Amino acid sequence: MFGLIGHLTSLEHAQSVARELGYPEYADQGLDFWCSAPPQIVDNITVTSVTGQKIEGRYVESCFLPEMLATRKIKAATRKILNAMAHAQKHGIDITALGGFSSIIFENFKLEQFRQVRNIQLEFERFTTGNTHTAYIICQQVEQASKQLGIELSKATVAVCGATGDIGSAVCRWLDAKTNVKDLLLIARNQERLQELQAQLGRGKILGLESALPLADIIVWVASMPKGVEIDPKLLKHPCLLIDGGYPKNLATKVQHSGVHVLNGGIVEHSLDIDWKIMQIVNMDVPARQLFACFAESMLLEFEKLYTNFSWGRNQITVDKMELIGKVSVKHGFRPLLV
Ligand code: NDP
Repeated sequence: MFGLIGHLTSLEHAQSVARELGYPEYADQGLDFWCSAPPQIVDNITVTSVTGQKIEGRYVESCFLPEMLATRKIKAATRKILNAMAHAQKHGIDITALGGFSSIIFENFKLEQFRQVRNIQLEFERFTTGNTHTAYIICQQVEQASKQLGIELSKATVAVCGATGDIGSAVCRWLDAKTNVKDLLLIARNQERLQELQAQLGRGKILGLESALPLADIIVWVASMPKGVEIDPKLLKHPCLLIDGGYPKNLATKVQHSGVHVLNGGIVEHSLDIDWKIMQIVNMDVPARQLFACFAESMLLEFEKLYTNFSWGRNQITVDKMELIGKVSVKHGFRPLLV
């Protein structure tokens, strides 16, 4: 059985979802209540592969909210993730994806030191960040959507915002090794990590956001931001392909300009309907078929009975592993969301 640990994008979102899911006692509560709410299994899922194979899964709502990071309720945030993992393990789930901020909190606050959660010793091999599949899907979106828009990679400048992150660095490695993209612009705040990445890649220009965006034909946004940013589409190239891979979305409002094509990054579409309720709640256009690529990774590992933490730690994702997960993604009927 596979599992998905998820969370909602804001307190307001959480309150409206609680009402819809039939938890009225959660719906009128503020952040403090969510800080103390325990994890819950809120959905049972059945996925059928195009090969005919069927698997079962569970959705674990961690009750984490990004406001907990913004208001420095760090202890609550870390407890949410550990408790959700313990909950998944207690329910016998073999492989669980740490969706959205779960894996970022796990890494940033070094939660591997807190293996014991009450009477449960966490078995980390039962968990995956899902970032290898996410990075692979974002790269497919770069390659395929640019073609749809007539942007030639051999003449294109690609800006990666969040380049030193787990997903961002994997995207850079793939674009360098597997495509003939002309220029790579590397954006993040920590200069030392940017220089390390640049040295590893042997290419890429380190630029600030304001200088990079007007130069980019393609922007891959994979920064870990608890709140989105506003960008002025008039400052971008036209055409420009903007792939927003953040959760919550890194762009606060939909960029509206005929020359700027915004694509939900790291999202896959399955070829067959998935039997679940949960995706309606995260506002997918086709809730029965569209999902986060990180969640799909735990499904793929379950289909292949690869019970291992396929994506784990930071900046370890190799092009070979991206190719491997990409192959099984296609085999079971997932494809990247396109324009
Ligand atoms: P990491 O924490 O590993 O990396 C985050 C990157 O963003 C780092 O390079 C960091 O560098 C940079 N960053 C953070 N804040 C800013 C800022 N204000 N300006 C510029 N750069 C910034 O995160 P992941 O790679 O694991 O995840 C990236 C995003 O992808 C997250 O939003 C996550 O929720 C989302 N995601 C989506 C999935 C999907 O299935 N679609 C799956 C998993 C994650 P620095 O700190 O130096 O600025």
